[in-house]
Amino acid sequence: MIDPAKTLSVYLHIPFCGVKCSYCAFNTYTSMEHLIPPFVDALCEEIRQVADGAGAVDVHTMFLGGGTPSLLSAQQIERILNALRTHFRVRADAEITMEANPADLSREYCAAVRAVGVNRLSIGMQSSNETELRLFDRRHDNDAVVRAVQSARQGGIRNLNLDLIYGSPHQTLDTWRATLAQTLALQPDHISLYALSLEEGTAMRAWVERGKLPEPDDDLAADMYDLATALLGGAGYLQYEISNWCKPGRECQHNLQYWYNLDYVGLGPGAHGFAAGVRYHVLRSPVRYIEKLTRQDGEIDTNVEYPRTAATEEAHIVERDDLIAETLIMGMRLTQGGISRAEFRRRFGEDLLEIHGEPIARHHRSGLLEVDDERVRLTERGRMLANIVLRDFV
Ligand code: SF4
Repeated sequence: MIDPAKTLSVYLHIPFCGVKCSYCAFNTYTSMEHLIPPFVDALCEEIRQVADGAGAVDVHTMFLGGGTPSLLSAQQIERILNALRTHFRVRADAEITMEANPADLSREYCAAVRAVGVNRLSIGMQSSNETELRLFDRRHDNDAVVRAVQSARQGGIRNLNLDLIYGSPHQTLDTWRATLAQTLALQPDHISLYALSLEEGTAMRAWVERGKLPEPDDDLAADMYDLATALLGGAGYLQYEISNWCKPGRECQHNLQYWYNLDYVGLGPGAHGFAAGVRYHVLRSPVRYIEKLTRQDGEIDTNVEYPRTAATEEAHIVERDDLIAETLIMGMRLTQGGISRAEFRRRFGEDLLEIHGEPIARHHRSGLLEVDDERVRLTERGRMLANIVLRDFV
């Protein structure tokens, strides 16, 4: 059992990409690679500032996300990880994940980042279909994914996740089946599925609005999800979260920290964090971020309380009722674990059934929730109707 008082996760947002993918609404920027060296300086400073107030906690997961962390050199990754090791107490067995574009993963690069501590790669495969990859504006093709997986293993990184997208315009059940077959052939340790959503400001949304692409079909997307559930389960992958599957023992420890609603520090432009009861986010502009943290604007505000830093844009204390609601909403995503009643009692001082006995009993009677002495979790049918269940806890 993870002790929330003693463990912490760290998310590091690397806001640079070679190309902006057509579906992506993340806080990322192209043609700004010249900012990477001062950004690394600023990130190391932000690590130092936040660590000052963190106290005696063990960091057990770190996640370099983005953006495209694999645009950074192994030396730059090393500087960032060394800053974390210098200023935090990092566990020797910490899970250190880095997101990567398949096109960046040569064997030499994988060996170099492994040597500086990265022990898990999350590779943005998205699809095995070349037409879909072009529609997504990905800068890799299917062969690059196969080479990337080989390179990672030859470079000594044994814990691999592949990200996949389903429900995109023109995608069919057959192309999705082929993507899943190719994924299984690569034998990753972990598979994450993302249902495409047309986010504000993305190229893909504009194409759909202008009639250049058909609207994604929700019913077809649901069929794709069912197909994935059947094929991945049939191949021995455990579905431990609504959108995540893994080989036994290969759950993503970093994401579990989010789903348990435990403390994580988010650093880097636009990153979100939750620690010491405070939810916050960092300012989004990489230029302003660098200015704030490296004194280029002439002043640096270090008079801030943990988990805030000079680059924090907004922070607020999470009230107990909201914390309970968030804990239930996140925890119900865990298809196996659900909400541990003992852990809930330890954290909030009351049994979950004392606080939410009536809706839990009602949804239990309707077959949407499983309840026993140890846990409360959604049934398979409850997962389909999760919105109906969860709104009773907000
Ligand atoms: S590589 Fe990832 S973060 Fe960058 S634009 Fe594409 S989807 Fe977004």
